[in-house]
Amino acid sequence: MLKGKKRDYFRRLLNGQLNELVGKNSHTAGNVADTSEKSLDFTDQATQESDMDFNIHMKERDSKLVVKIKEALERIEDGTYGICEVCGQPISEDRLKVRPVTTMCITCKRKQENDERLRGL
Ligand SMILES: [Zn+2]
Repeated sequence: MLKGKKRDYFRRLLNGQLNELVGKNSHTAGNVADTSEKSLDFTDQATQESDMDFNIHMKERDSKLVVKIKEALERIEDGTYGICEVCGQPISEDRLKVRPVTTMCITCKRKQENDERLRGL
């Protein structure tokens, strides 16, 4: 469990992302939106679509991210932030810094992505 300064650090990080998402309108999301685990696939698809479609996608994606950030902030408050929801092991701080909204350690995330690929999702 994270506490003290680390907890404050991630709370600030998440609040900062939240404010940026909620506060912006037509700006592209830049590096803030790049917290989706499937961002690479998404970017490839998006670049082939029109600007209008791209903006709609960004908004849908932003609103999902807002929900994720709020959930992460709740986990910080109840003390479960930084714990993998699948295996219960701590998620590495480096991973949390890159993807503060993540709920899975890298091992479980990779496993999940492999499973999804096998199921054709
Ligand atoms: Zn795990």
